[in-house]
Amino acid sequence: MGETKYIFVTGGVASSLGKGIISSSIGKLLQARGYSVTIQKFDPYINIDPGTLNPYEHGECYVTVDGHEADLDLGHYERYLGIETTKANNITTGRIYKSVIDKERRGDYLGKTIQIIPHITDEIKRNVKLLGSKNQFDFVITEIGGTVGDIESLPYLESIRQLKWELGKNALCVHLTYVPYLKAAGELKTKPTQHSVKELQSVGIQPDILVLRSEYELGMGLRRKVAQFCNVDEKSVVQSIDAATIYEVPLLMQEQGLDETILTKMGLPIGNQPELGPWRSFLDRREKAEETDPIHIALVGKYDLQDAYKSIREALSHAGVYNDRKVKVDFVDSEKLTDENVAEALEGKAGVLIGPGFGQRGIDGKFVALKYARTQDIPTFGICLGMQCMAIEFARNVLNLSDANSREMDAKTPNNVIDIMEEQKAITSMGGTMRLGAYECALEPGSNAYEAYGKEIIKERHRHRYEFNNDFKDRYEAAGMQCTGINPESGLVEIVEIPKLKWFVGTQFHPEYSSTVLNPHPLFLSFVKAAINQ
Ligand code: GLN
Repeated sequence: MGETKYIFVTGGVASSLGKGIISSSIGKLLQARGYSVTIQKFDPYINIDPGTLNPYEHGECYVTVDGHEADLDLGHYERYLGIETTKANNITTGRIYKSVIDKERRGDYLGKTIQIIPHITDEIKRNVKLLGSKNQFDFVITEIGGTVGDIESLPYLESIRQLKWELGKNALCVHLTYVPYLKAAGELKTKPTQHSVKELQSVGIQPDILVLRSEYELGMGLRRKVAQFCNVDEKSVVQSIDAATIYEVPLLMQEQGLDETILTKMGLPIGNQPELGPWRSFLDRREKAEETDPIHIALVGKYDLQDAYKSIREALSHAGVYNDRKVKVDFVDSEKLTDENVAEALEGKAGVLIGPGFGQRGIDGKFVALKYARTQDIPTFGICLGMQCMAIEFARNVLNLSDANSREMDAKTPNNVIDIMEEQKAITSMGGTMRLGAYECALEPGSNAYEAYGKEIIKERHRHRYEFNNDFKDRYEAAGMQCTGINPESGLVEIVEIPKLKWFVGTQFHPEYSSTVLNPHPLFLSFVKAAINQ
């Protein structure tokens, strides 16, 4: 196509309006027209990456194939576009400053005074262009976290202002705002949008397209008014109304000609509207699945927040659609689970998923849930810490090692069935030091995992510090828990299963990160299928 085009997505009025969904939807529509697209997220916080953040702060930590701990919006990008993101797709203010300070220490700036403008803004601009630099993408979409008007967003906005000036037609700004409905007045209000656009204009950015989030249909009169007050043409004011599923948003944007408006503004031919066939088939299938009697999957964890297990919830919903069944995920707080209430808590659940996590809090409830699920033969899926808990529970209650534990929870246990690796012991820093990113795993033919994947060698993403202790492997296998997935290089156990049960599989890796709309994850498909059939 020639030069890479840059689309910036900013947000105003309130946070949580769905910038990630809008960015992904724009990406999807451009991709459907045959363009190669990538999306990156710039987060204005100071942390180097979200790896050390409590999930209550920003939801789950997503992991890229190349081992970067990233913002959960990268999950949306991958699920919508079916692409793989990397470390370059998620930048934080912390990383920008670190890079600038490292350069300063090396003497790269030749005695200059280091300032936000131009040094920080240049570093931001360099990172924006990095993905486009090798001409590997026709479009680079850059989502700016936070809300316009925040102090920490300013260097990013100044960088966009400069880039828009430098790149001309090759850059475009989409601004997402919120149109509230005032019940007492019975009116939708555009003033917050006007103010938010003014805020952008005050830093020298004229948005090209406005996407208005609303719970209600926005009439033409309202859009005209916004267009007039905000210096954009009417066609460039698009509504983003609450949808039954986030995966409908690309179609809702397409209906309003958002992709055509973008192409026109960037001087590209419009051509025929893409049909988005497979995407529509997914939505049709989903709609039918929604009408079925739901199966309930218990998601056992300690973070009672939707976003904390975002990718797991999405992967389960994809698997439901492809199994033609509605899947309802019921969060079960592991901190509240006891032997006395577990039967009631898990009553009627078709499957149990034990979530990933860190630390002691809530762990005992996971053992309680696992013992119940194992003895009642309910299809069970353990992910990362969930898999480690499977091994610990089995050691305690089947191998009769009552003090079996992970070194993470009990540094002194002699029955350290989950242990820390030699090379991890020496590491004292918290950020980015776990086993991260994609590793190979060889599957045992005949196992549930092998049946699900249909091949022997797979690659999955990791994010953990502790591992199954191979010293105990023989005892496990003799007692009926098999190690059915092994890292061919290190010999580390990646999957455990109890073959005698209907479906009892634990993975040390995180399969949820790689489930996409058009490529649902085989293990989730298999788990949901087992849950339906049980
Ligand atoms: N806390 C465990 C470990 O570090 C599991 C991590 C996880 O569930 N992501 O090994």
